[in-house]
Amino acid sequence: MHIVGRFAPSPSGRMHLGNILCAMLGYLSAKSKGGDYILRIEDLDTLRCTKDNCKQVLDDLNWFGINFDDINFVKPKNVNISNINNSIYQSERTEIYKCFERFLKEKGLVYPCFCSRAELHAVSAPHLSDGRLIYTGTCKNLTEQERKQKKRKPAMRLAVPDIKISFVDGCIGECTENLKLECGDFIIKRSDGIFAYQLAVTVDDGLMGVTEVVRGHDLISSTARQIWLHELFGFKPPKFYHMPLLVAPDGRRLSKRDKDLDLGVIRQYMKPQKLIGILAYTCGLIENKEDISLDELIKIFSWDKIPNRDLILPEL
Ligand SMILES: [Zn+2]
Repeated sequence: MHIVGRFAPSPSGRMHLGNILCAMLGYLSAKSKGGDYILRIEDLDTLRCTKDNCKQVLDDLNWFGINFDDINFVKPKNVNISNINNSIYQSERTEIYKCFERFLKEKGLVYPCFCSRAELHAVSAPHLSDGRLIYTGTCKNLTEQERKQKKRKPAMRLAVPDIKISFVDGCIGECTENLKLECGDFIIKRSDGIFAYQLAVTVDDGLMGVTEVVRGHDLISSTARQIWLHELFGFKPPKFYHMPLLVAPDGRRLSKRDKDLDLGVIRQYMKPQKLIGILAYTCGLIENKEDISLDELIKIFSWDKIPNRDLILPEL
C-alpha cells in the first residue's frame, strides 16, 4: 500500500517545539516507508488563524527542511460532491463540507441542537474521567414545532449508535470506545455555521487519500468519532499514531505560552540540524544529542524506538 501521511497545523500562532516534533515524526513515518507527506492548513477559525500566521508556519517548516508532496485527491464513493476542490486551506473548502453534511442529513443522522454552553456544562451533565462531556440527546426528539419555537441558532449533531469502535494505535496499541456511552451524539457544525473539527478532518483525510495520521496523544479521544465518520462516508480509516507529548523536566506540559520554545526565538540562535538532533534524541531515535539531518533519520526511523510515555525535553 502506498503510504500518505499528513501534517495539518492550525496556524493560530508561531510553530512550537511540540508542533515541529509532530511534523517531524509524521514526515519520518511516511518517508521511511517510501510514502508521501502532504500539508493541510486547518484554518477554519479564521479569527485566530490569519494569513500571516499561515505564512509563518510554512516558512518554519521550510526552514526545518520538510518538503511536502502533491496531493492525489480521491473521488468519494458514497457522497456526491459538486466539484473537486484542490485547496489545502480548510477555510476554502466549506462547499465540500456542505456536501458531506447533506449526505448525513439525507440519511436522517443529523439533528439541530439548541443547547447553550451553560446547559451543556450543567452540574448534572455526565462527564468522563478525562473531563469530556457526554451529550445525552436532549434535543434529539424535539418536534418540528418545538424546534421552530427555539430562539437561538442551532449546532448540528450526528446521532451515533450504541457501538464499540476499536482500533490499533501505532503508539498506544489496542483502543476501544463506545460511541454512545463515552461520547454521545457529537457536533458536526457549530451554531456559528463553522464546520466542526471532526467533520472537516475526516472529509479531508478521506479526500486527500491519507493513510496514516500522526498527532499528539491529547487527540486520541477524537479517533473513534473520526473512524465512525470515515465508515459512514465510505472511506478507509487511516492508521493512527498518537505520539507522546513533550514535557518540561519537571513534568509540566509545554504549551504555546512557553514563548522561548517557539520557532521565532529558536531560529535566532540554532541551525535546523541541531534542533532535529535534539528532537530525535528526545524521542529516542538517536542515543546522543548531536546534529543530524532528516535524510539520515529516515534511514533509522522506527516507531518501536519511540517510547509510550511523555517525552522530557532536555536543555536546549
Ligand atoms: Zn441540545
